[in-house]
Amino acid sequence: MVDIDLEDLAKQVQAARDIIDDVSALLEDAARSVVVEVINATTCKLRYVGRDISHGAFEVLPAAVIEPFSSNVFGARSASGGIATGTEGIVRYAMDDVGTECRVRWDNPFSGGNEAEVFMGGPNRELYSYNSAITGGNKKVPARFIIGEKALLREPESAWITCGRCKALYHAPGGSQGACPPTKHTGQTTITFDDGTWISATGDVWDPHQPSGWILGVPYGQYALHRSEGWRRCQRCKMLYWDGVLNGSRGVCPSGYINSAHLHVAEGHAYLLPYDVRTAPGLQNDWRFCEKCFVLFFEPHDVDNSCAAGGKHRATAHKFQVNIV
Ligand SMILES: [Zn+2]
Ligand SMILES: [Zn+2]
Ligand SMILES: [Zn+2]
Repeated sequence: MVDIDLEDLAKQVQAARDIIDDVSALLEDAARSVVVEVINATTCKLRYVGRDISHGAFEVLPAAVIEPFSSNVFGARSASGGIATGTEGIVRYAMDDVGTECRVRWDNPFSGGNEAEVFMGGPNRELYSYNSAITGGNKKVPARFIIGEKALLREPESAWITCGRCKALYHAPGGSQGACPPTKHTGQTTITFDDGTWISATGDVWDPHQPSGWILGVPYGQYALHRSEGWRRCQRCKMLYWDGVLNGSRGVCPSGYINSAHLHVAEGHAYLLPYDVRTAPGLQNDWRFCEKCFVLFFEPHDVDNSCAAGGKHRATAHKFQVNIV
């Protein structure tokens, strides 16, 4: 599954054909040359920190920074006037500020087969996945390096959907589910006490959420940088919420037991929500954390009465991303 995500992302961010052609055209005269494409399919910047060209020279220099979900193409060639030499080199990129480093290496020797490799080192090396490929041949040989994250950015099959009324993300495997804050009214309900006993009585009831728009996904599993931890699904209201403490609060669940606080109750996976990742393909931006009720909500459509704590949701600074399935 990891590799499917990596290849899939790479296809969406690979360099345009004409960029590769432009670099290739500059390598016309060299006896040995390589057109190197480095695809950054991570949520981090790849910052150029150094190189080691053991044979030949650059014809086109590597970029200083490869932004998340973009690629860079550069050219390497055998030395002009060099006799029986090829091109071999390493370019080093910093993945973060704590010393995680990625090295891409190519070798197009004067005689013998071509090689391409990726090395990942440093404290966060386990977070990344990568692959490399190079064809045979002597001139303008394409070498391709894909750097990705083991963590998925997308949950491929999912049953999350936006509620058209309260603008929260809720889990809806069977369509309408949960408790939608603005629909609170008095009705016949089953009241369950903390000791597990229950009675049927008149009390607060809520209609289920109202499905609206696309089916959405929220990834879980492997951690990566730019992933927010602690997100769960609430078994009572079915909304995605942050299961933590902020300013002494644990949020507000619309659906509460009598004799009990209106607290969300966790079930299902521990989700890892991408945040402040602006350019990833297939992700929907503008999701926010409500610091009053702790659910995730779609900010552009927020309306009054949407929040279980009363009024509108109140967003914090970060933008969170979910994927369109
Ligand atoms: Zn709702
Ligand atoms: Zn809840
Ligand atoms: Zn809220």
